[in-house]
Amino acid sequence: MSRTTIIFIIAALLSAITSAARSYTPAEVPNVHVADRSQYVADPDGYLDAAAVARLNATLDSIRRSTSAEPMIAVIGDMTDNDIDNFATELFGQWGLGKSDKDNGLLILVAMEPRKVAIRTGYGLEGVLPDITCGRIIREDITPAFRRGAYGAGLIAAADRIRHILTDPAYAEEIRSAESDADFARHSDEPDGFTIYLYCAIGLTIGMLIFLLISLANVRGRSDYEKYCSLDRWKSPALILSFVGLCIPFLVTGPYLWLLHHWRNHRRQCPHCGTTMIKVDEVSDNKYLTPSQDLEEQIGSVDYDVWLCPKCGETDILPYVNSSSPMVECDNCHARTARLVVTRVVQQPTATRHGVAVKEYECLNCHHRQQRRVDLGTDDSAALSAIAAGAILGSGRRSGGSFGGGSFGGGFGGGMTGGGGASGGW
Ligand SMILES: [Zn+2]
Ligand SMILES: [Zn+2]
Repeated sequence: MSRTTIIFIIAALLSAITSAARSYTPAEVPNVHVADRSQYVADPDGYLDAAAVARLNATLDSIRRSTSAEPMIAVIGDMTDNDIDNFATELFGQWGLGKSDKDNGLLILVAMEPRKVAIRTGYGLEGVLPDITCGRIIREDITPAFRRGAYGAGLIAAADRIRHILTDPAYAEEIRSAESDADFARHSDEPDGFTIYLYCAIGLTIGMLIFLLISLANVRGRSDYEKYCSLDRWKSPALILSFVGLCIPFLVTGPYLWLLHHWRNHRRQCPHCGTTMIKVDEVSDNKYLTPSQDLEEQIGSVDYDVWLCPKCGETDILPYVNSSSPMVECDNCHARTARLVVTRVVQQPTATRHGVAVKEYECLNCHHRQQRRVDLGTDDSAALSAIAAGAILGSGRRSGGSFGGGSFGGGFGGGMTGGGGASGGW
């Protein structure tokens, strides 16, 4: 065989391969609408030009928006099974075209190689688009254009005519699905994650405001010192929640912190002579404190404010316990200076029996040693993890249920066709 002959054979084979249209089964036709809801034309091998596809997408989208009907167009090279009616019915069912309450789906299927075209309608469209009308659309709009090779123009003419018929006000009630509005609302107005988070932050702020108002009502009539001590412990949680809540809770945390500052620092009158007292600064207040109070302040377990009357020398010493300090009160000297030395578990917890630990403290002030028993509870870690797993599964089911909303995997409403429509060739 000469080299020219081999090249000729290879070229012939290549041209045979490239010109052979790909054969599809209904399952192989890509549902482009699932990936992108603005796409209504499945043309995997690119028989239509981009301008025609864009125009068809616009027309079919307008049909869907104004009537809730679910139209699609599929253009393929060839079918493995040569029966275009079976193919169209099967593809229609696989994509679940049409809302299930109205069955208002519509499919135009074109098979290029066998030169066949079919229009398939759901039960709900058969009254508006009877087989005879579908047949006329194929004969008058599609076939003449297709014979000239103007595939895009033929489909555009067909889609325009279908839109004209379906958007006729006389048919609106017959076609329109009750599901459609909810469906569109769900997809267009579905709040994004940030919006949900924002609502949570606002809810958190309102919750904190209610909590603050209740706390204030509970301490009404008490002295400023008692108010401060009662509400001071919420400072850290309030600050953390304020940042978690995108700083919106600062609307509540701000006034709350101002109140704390006010209760602790506002000018007070001497109970003796009525003169305005002055607060002694942290460095010079040591000489008014006992050695144990001084030690408490040094190790940070208690902060003392010393108020001094400049006229009569009266002092007012107010202790502010630091709740985050690990120091506990000494049983002997009663200063908050007992430090944890060791923790011993004397009884291991089981599923049914409480565990017990003993904590041993030594006082930094008087060196007194003391013990405290601590109840460790039962060992229900296994039960806890089971509950946690159940909660996660439960919440997963809930969220799945709320968004599943009766839509088929095909991305459409799950409508059915009874084989209504028409087919023909060109
Ligand atoms: Zn005084
Ligand atoms: Zn002590």
